[in-house]
Amino acid sequence: MQYSVSVRTLCEFTAKRGDLDLRFTPSPTALEGMAGHQHVTGRRGAGYETEIGLRGEFGPLVVRGRADGYDPALRRLEEIKTRRGDLSRQPANHRALHWAQAKIYGWLLCQARGLAELDLALVYFDLGTQEETTFVETHSAQALRAFFEARCTEFLAWAEQELAHRNGRDRALAALAFPHQAFRAGQRELAEAVYRGAAGGRCVLAQAPTGIGKTIATTFAMLKAAPSQGLDKVFYLTAKSTGRRMALDAAARLQEGGFAPRLRVLELTARDKACEHPDKACHGESCPLARGFYDRLPAARADGLARGFMDAAALRQVARRHAVCPYYLAQEQARWADLVVGDYNYWFDGSAMLYTMTAGNEWRVGVLADEAHNLVERARAMYSASLGQAALQPARESSAGDVRKALDKVQRSWSSVRKAQAQGEGPLQALPAPFVTALRKAVAAIETQLAQAAPGAADTALQQAYFDMLGFLRLADSFGSHSVLEVTQEPVRGRRAATTVRIQNLIPAPFLKPRFAAARTVTLFSATLNPPRYAMDMLGMPENTAWTDVASPFRPEQLQVRAVRGISTRYPDRQGSAAPIAALIAEQFAAQPGNYLAFFSSFDYLELVVAEFRRSHPDIPTWTQVRGMNEGQRSDFIARFVPGGAGVGFAVLGGSFGEGIDLRGDRLVGAFVATLGLPQVNPRNEQLKARLEAAFGAGYDYTYLYPGLQKVVQAAGRVIRTHEDRGIVYLIDDRFQRPAVRDLLPSWWQVTPVWRAGRSAGSCEPRAA
Ligand code: SF4
Repeated sequence: MQYSVSVRTLCEFTAKRGDLDLRFTPSPTALEGMAGHQHVTGRRGAGYETEIGLRGEFGPLVVRGRADGYDPALRRLEEIKTRRGDLSRQPANHRALHWAQAKIYGWLLCQARGLAELDLALVYFDLGTQEETTFVETHSAQALRAFFEARCTEFLAWAEQELAHRNGRDRALAALAFPHQAFRAGQRELAEAVYRGAAGGRCVLAQAPTGIGKTIATTFAMLKAAPSQGLDKVFYLTAKSTGRRMALDAAARLQEGGFAPRLRVLELTARDKACEHPDKACHGESCPLARGFYDRLPAARADGLARGFMDAAALRQVARRHAVCPYYLAQEQARWADLVVGDYNYWFDGSAMLYTMTAGNEWRVGVLADEAHNLVERARAMYSASLGQAALQPARESSAGDVRKALDKVQRSWSSVRKAQAQGEGPLQALPAPFVTALRKAVAAIETQLAQAAPGAADTALQQAYFDMLGFLRLADSFGSHSVLEVTQEPVRGRRAATTVRIQNLIPAPFLKPRFAAARTVTLFSATLNPPRYAMDMLGMPENTAWTDVASPFRPEQLQVRAVRGISTRYPDRQGSAAPIAALIAEQFAAQPGNYLAFFSSFDYLELVVAEFRRSHPDIPTWTQVRGMNEGQRSDFIARFVPGGAGVGFAVLGGSFGEGIDLRGDRLVGAFVATLGLPQVNPRNEQLKARLEAAFGAGYDYTYLYPGLQKVVQAAGRVIRTHEDRGIVYLIDDRFQRPAVRDLLPSWWQVTPVWRAGRSAGSCEPRAA
């Protein structure tokens, strides 16, 4: 069996030594890198070859990659690197790595074309100045071959170990048995959908009820498919850390139960959670865990892989033992792990690490994304950015010379934004050219200054301004009908209003499409994904995505669902609805004392009803969600739901308690949902509605109805968690009678209409939502 390795990985593994050095070097994005490469190769003459696919073997090793460019007339192979900043400050180990790559490509080309000698050139293209700096060396094919073989020999022991691991892992996964005695109802169906998706190379959208054990079912199925589909890795992505824990527990169960003992599991955590020296910078002169990082990495890597299960705690232990940074150790381990568990952003974000690694190493991966109803909102945030006049002010005040002049120009150019906003009808349609030009010039000026600054001497405010402007410009470059511009003005310290402009993404599909294409298969799953077309359109999923709606394992008699007529929770009717809602809750509580959750569309509405409830029923214990609760306060809220307890917890729909909490048995006996969860009608949502109507012909549904009802079903889903649970859900609003709304409720619910005289107007006729 052969072991395939990219030139890049081979070199990083064998030639990277010394410090981790992430000192301020404005690194180009993948897009900028590609554009830079094209710029350089576009300057070359006729006959110049680009992207030359090369391959070489050494024992069981297959080394492959694409050389950037080759000029046959000059017999010169070029390794092109795009960068920003002063090249003389480039750490020596970075340059050494680039030479190693050039030499490996050099040998592969000599071998392919029968060349006896070759010029190798490292071409550094500065994105700011558009200038090239080139270093050239001449090497004989013999010398290049010796270099190649030395690197391969160094890597071979590792490759053989990896091959043995892969063989053993795949044997175990092919024989993998479900780690519980039997599938629960629905689990098999879900697992089969994931497996079929992997086998057919398709994406899957799977709606499956809470409580069936989705985590283990999906993980099991994707791992089981790995050997036959040649999957190198499985990524399990979550919206929240609670989901990550569940995935890690499922993986531990597979390992410890002996089902997949060789599986290498890795948890990725955010830098601010993993960093051991938050007061330091990530380079050897500042942080002891960055100093000599690559010298100690091999031992740490081997130690980590020997453990197999590397959650954040285990990573920290290994990192401490070898005195390396745990955050960057995790990134290194991701190359060798089989199952990586982390946040959505590691795959879907603009500069997502797992996505970049997958593309660079040509891995075949299977991706699972849990609680996927969150992905639309999360992805919108990933592809949105704000830039504020006030936020740039500290950098302007502390700067001098060319940077000050450039930031002064940015300051003046804000007027063009305000003017364009004032002149147009409705929202700004495009960023004014003077504003964008001023931002670009400021970015270039800061780059020049920072590149000349002594290492570590960079001004924090200036760096922040730089990154803010750069992030904003990157989104500005890809601005299109998927996003809108929002301009706001706020007074600052009593002075003239400061302007903020935001690029707000509305439709993340164009950004996410390549993410689905890059994986062998992606399964998005959640208890609330209905209707599938919504997720497919908004996320840019392929047209051949398979849809699975797993039947609920719960019996209709376990959950009484009552749709309350006669009470409107629309904004103008809220005042009048407080008393009837309070009476309804109290009545149910009297009929069946126990723990209840009551959900409202906003804190204002919640406070209105709580006040009424406490006034009219002071004897019933209540506790409420408040704005900005910390982790401890959230735990205290949940802790009130004790078995056998009695009281009402008031919460907002779509908040911390509307999903992801598990109150089994009589810890929760019922829920009241006093809203359809429809997002607020405001200019942004109205604009979103118009865009979605134009794009998909479903403006109202995609903006208001579907996101709202997903929250309702999530909240109601807190009541029944096991086969033994029984409970009641009140859906309070006239509009729950509508067929279009009913269609979005779980099909196993048997909804009974009940009448309450409630709205002050006394009418129960449905109005436009
Ligand atoms: S420990 Fe913190 S400061 Fe040090 S290298 Fe790691 S992330 Fe950077």
